[in-house]
Amino acid sequence: MAKRQFKAEPKRLLDLMINSIYTNREIFLRELISNASDAIDKLYYKFLTEGVGGKSRSDFSIRVTPDKAARTLTISDDGIGMTKDELAENLGIIAKSGSEDFKKALDTKEDIDIIGQFGVGFYSAFMVAKNVKVRSLAYGETQAYQWESEGTDGYTISECDKEGNGTEIILTLREDTEAEQYSTYLEEYTLRRLITHYSDYIRYPIIMQVTKRREIPASDEEKEKDDYEPRYESFREDETINSMVPLWKKAKKDITQDEYDHFYEDNFHDYQAPLRVIHTNAEGALNYNALLFIPQEASYDYYTRDFEKGLALYTNGVLIMEKCAEMLPDYFSFVKGLVDSSDLTLNISRETLQHDRQLRAIASHLEKKIKTELKEMLTKDREKYEGFFRSFGRQIKYGLYSDYGIHKDVLSDLVLFESSYEGKPVTFEEYISRMAPDQKYIYYACGENASRIASMPQTEALKAKGYEILYCTQDVDEFALKTIEKVNDKPFRNISEGDLGIELSEEEKEQVKKAGEENSDLLKAMKEHLSDKVSDVKISSRLTDHAVCLSTQGGLSIDMEKVLNAMPSSYQKVKAEKVLELNSSHPVFATLKEAFDAGNTDKLDDYTDLLYNQALLIEGLPVEDPSRLSDMICRLMK
Ligand code: ADP
Repeated sequence: MAKRQFKAEPKRLLDLMINSIYTNREIFLRELISNASDAIDKLYYKFLTEGVGGKSRSDFSIRVTPDKAARTLTISDDGIGMTKDELAENLGIIAKSGSEDFKKALDTKEDIDIIGQFGVGFYSAFMVAKNVKVRSLAYGETQAYQWESEGTDGYTISECDKEGNGTEIILTLREDTEAEQYSTYLEEYTLRRLITHYSDYIRYPIIMQVTKRREIPASDEEKEKDDYEPRYESFREDETINSMVPLWKKAKKDITQDEYDHFYEDNFHDYQAPLRVIHTNAEGALNYNALLFIPQEASYDYYTRDFEKGLALYTNGVLIMEKCAEMLPDYFSFVKGLVDSSDLTLNISRETLQHDRQLRAIASHLEKKIKTELKEMLTKDREKYEGFFRSFGRQIKYGLYSDYGIHKDVLSDLVLFESSYEGKPVTFEEYISRMAPDQKYIYYACGENASRIASMPQTEALKAKGYEILYCTQDVDEFALKTIEKVNDKPFRNISEGDLGIELSEEEKEQVKKAGEENSDLLKAMKEHLSDKVSDVKISSRLTDHAVCLSTQGGLSIDMEKVLNAMPSSYQKVKAEKVLELNSSHPVFATLKEAFDAGNTDKLDDYTDLLYNQALLIEGLPVEDPSRLSDMICRLMK
C-alpha cells in the first residue's frame, strides 16, 4: 500500500522528537491518556446532551496494557473513536488550528520551547515507539480502521476488525540503548508511577492488570503444625490506578505545588511552571471551583490576533466549553484556567453566555481575585512582579486606555513605569509619594529606551529641580497616560509639551521674557524660514546645557504622531504642532545673533536648518534631507 505523507509540520516535529531534542520522553503516556480521556469526554457529553445511552462516567474506562513478549504497550479507550477521514486528518497534521503559527515558530524559536508550547500530543508516541498503530471504531459506525506509521516516512490507513467503539493505540517500543531503556515502559512499576504522577486526576478509571500476591488458604489442621509456614501465590487483577478526583475539586491543603505545576503544564501547553496559582472554592450565593494560572511568560502568539483568551467551563466536572472568552476581561487575558460550577447548565451556547447572570457574577468575582493576587505579588514579591510585568504589562496598559479609561480604578495601581529615580520600574503611588511639595505634575517622557530618554535636553530643567520623570518606552504608554489623565488628582505632563508648570525664580522668568523680547525679530526670521514645519520658534525655559529642543503644543505629542502614523490604518497622517525651543544662554545662540545682526540671511537659514534637524534627531525623528544636511555640515567645517 502506498504510504501517505505527513504534512510538512509534523514531519519536522517528528524529526525533532525522534532525534531526542525533547528529553522528557515519559510524557508520551500522559499525552495518550489525556487524548483518550478527551475522546471519552466527547462521547459522554453526547450522551448527556442527546439523552441517549443512560451511561454514567464510571461506565467508561481507559486501559493500559503492557506486553513484554510482543514488546508492545497498548492504550485503549471506549470513547468516541475516529472515522477513516478523522484518522487521516487528526493524525496526519499537527496542531491544525495553529499549523501556520507552528511553522513560523519553528523557524524562529528554540526547538524545545515550541514543543512545549504546542502540546505535542499524539506525536510524542514516536519518542518511545518505532511503530505506532491506531485502531479505531468511531461511535455509530460499523467499520473500524487502522492507522499505522513508523515515523517520518508517512503512514497507511486500512480496514481492520475492532469490537466496540473507541481507540486502541499500540506502541511497539524501540530497542533499548545504553542511554535509554525503553523496556521500562513495559514494567508495571514504571507505568503505575507515570499514571499516578501525571494522570491521577483523569476522571475515568485508568485500568491496568497488575500482579498481586495473596496467601494460599490453608486448613486449620495445617496451620496448627509446628513447621507451618504460610504460602503465597501471585495472581493478576484489574486495578484502577488513578484517584479520579479532578485537581480543582481537591482541598487546597492536599495539593502540592508540583501537582499544580504538572496540571498546568499538561493542560495549558506551557513548558514552564506557572508564576502564580489561584485556586478558589466558592460556596453560597455562587457555587464554583476555579483554578487559574498566571503564566511566567507570554506565549509566542499572545500579542497577535490569533490569540484566544478564555477559561474552560465545566459543570459538575463535565467540560462544556474549552474557551469561554466572557470569563476574562481583555486586560487579564493572559490568565489560563478553568471554572467548574454546578450552577451552569450543560447546554450553554455562545449566544446565551452573555446573558447568563451566574456566569457574569462568577467572572466579576474572578476578576477581583486576579487583581488581588497581582496586587499581592506587587507588594510582597516585587521581583517576581516585575518579571510578570515585563511579560504582560503591555496588556495591562492597553487596559488602561481601552474603553475610554473606565478600567483605571482596577488597573492603575498595577502599572509600572521605568523612571529617572534609580532607573527602576515604579508605581504611580511610589512616584506620588516622592513628589516635591511644589510639584504640580507627574512628568513623563517618551523615547526608544531609558538611556535615550535620560539624555533628552527637555529633561534638564526637571532634573535641576530634582523632579522624577516616568519613561514611556512602549507605544501604548503615552496613550494610556493621556487617557487616564491623572492619578490621585495629579495630572500627567509630557516633558516636551507646552508649559512645564515649573515655578521659575523671578530672575529666571525675567531672563526668558527679556531674551524673547530682545530677539523677537531673530525668532521671527527663523520661524519664517522653517515655515509650517514648526508652529513657533521661542526661547526655552526647559534647557540649561543643550542648545535646542522640540516641544509640542495642542495635546498631540511627537511620539503619538509617530505611533499613529505607523498604524496600517492611518491613511490620514496626523501632525503634532512642534515648537523649536532655543537656549538663549548657549554660545550657539550668540552665533545665531551674529549672523542675524550682520544681515547674513543665508548663514542664518543654514544654522536654522541645522538646529531644527538636530532637534529632530534628538526626538528620534528622521532628518528631512540627510544629504543636504551632510553637505551643510561639511561646508561649515571647511
Ligand atoms: P490535541 O489533543 O492537542 O488536539 P493530538 O495530536 O494529541 O493533539 O491529537 C490530535 C487529534 O486526534 C485530537 O484532537 C483528536 O481529535 C484525535 N485523537 C487523538 N487521540 C484520540 C483518541 N484516543 N480518540 C479519539 N480521537 C483522538
